[in-house]
Amino acid sequence: MTYLRPSRPLPEPGRPSFSFEFYPPRSTQGDALLWRSIRRIEAAYDPSFVSVTYGAGGSSRERTVGLTERIAAETTLRPVAHLTAVGHSVTELRQVIGSYAEAGVHDLLALRGDPPDDPRGTWVPHPQGFRHAGELVSLIRESGNFTVGVAAFPERHRRSPDWESEIRHFVAKCRAGADYAITQMFFRADDYLRLRDRVAAAGCDIPIIPALMPATDVRQIQRFAALSNAVFPQGLADALARAGDDAEAAYAIGVEHATVLAERLLGEGAPGLHHITLNRSSAALDIQENLGIHRSTPTRPPALTLTG
Ligand code: FAD
Repeated sequence: MTYLRPSRPLPEPGRPSFSFEFYPPRSTQGDALLWRSIRRIEAAYDPSFVSVTYGAGGSSRERTVGLTERIAAETTLRPVAHLTAVGHSVTELRQVIGSYAEAGVHDLLALRGDPPDDPRGTWVPHPQGFRHAGELVSLIRESGNFTVGVAAFPERHRRSPDWESEIRHFVAKCRAGADYAITQMFFRADDYLRLRDRVAAAGCDIPIIPALMPATDVRQIQRFAALSNAVFPQGLADALARAGDDAEAAYAIGVEHATVLAERLLGEGAPGLHHITLNRSSAALDIQENLGIHRSTPTRPPALTLTG
C-alpha cells in the first residue's frame, strides 16, 4: 500500500505541543467525570491533541476505540489513539487501524504494551503478532495517512539492559517512521534532558514531548512511579508526607512541583507538555495557567492590504 504524507502533521509546525491524556472509564460515574474534564479542557484551552490509552484486553479496548471515535465526532479536539501490540495478531492490528481511519482518526501512538496480568512479567508476543513497537510503527506507516507517535523513557525502559540498546531501539522507531515521542512520566528535568541529548547524538531529531503527572495523591503516584520505573524524589515525598491527609495541601504541592519542572523543561527547549490527567482536568489546567499558557488564537493568514 502506498503511504501518503499526512495532511495535518503532528506536532503542528511552529506551535508548542500541549496535550492531555485520558483513559476509558469503567463506570457511568467515571464517564461523567471524564466528559466534564474533556469539556473544561475544550473550553479553557485549544490543545494540540488529546490522547486515549489502550487497555490490556477485551471490553477496555472497545471502550478506547469508542471514546476516541466519540471525541473525534463530538468535540473540536484532535484525538490520538494509543494502540498496543499486546494479544493482537497483525491481522487484528490492521483491522483496528482500519476502523480508526474510517472514523476519521488519523493519529496513533504505537506501543508494544506490557503483559496484561503483570506489567513486570515475561513479555510473550502473540504468535502472529509483533515483538516490538517499531514493527507497529511500520505497519501504521504502510496502512495509510496517519501520524505516528512512540514512547520514550527518560529513566530508561525497565527491560533495557543499558543505555546503548535503549537509544539504538528508540532510534529504530524513528527510522521506521515515528513523527514524535511522548515520554513516560518522570520527576527530574535532568533525566529528560539527558535522554533528549542521547537521542540527538544518535542522529534522531523527532520532538520528544515530556509527560507530566502532578503528584497530588501520594499513594497513587508512588504506585505509578514504581510501575513505570520513575524515581520519586525524596524532597517531594517528604513534602507530601507532611501534608498528610490534607488533600488541598497535597494538591498544591503536586501542582507546584509539576509547574517548576515544566518551566525548566520549556526553558530548556522541550517542544511542549503532555499532561497525564487521570481524567481530571484541574491540575493540568492549573499548571497551564501557572505557566501563563492560555488559549491561543487560531492562526489565520494575514489580511491582504491593497495599496496604490
Ligand atoms: P518497545 O519500543 O518495543 O520497547 C520495549 C523494550 O524492548 C525496550 O527495552 C526496548 O529497548 C526493547 N526493544 C525495542 N525494539 C527492540 C528490538 N528490535 N530488538 C530488541 N529489543 C528491542 N501501555 C498500554 O498498555 N497502553 C497504553 O495506552 C500505553 N500508553 C503509553 C503511553 C506512553 C507515552 C508511554 C511512555 C507508555 C505507554 N504504555 C502503554 C506503556 C508501554 O506500552 C510499556 O512501557 C511497554 O513496556 C514499552 O512499550 P514501547 O512502545 O516503548 O516498546
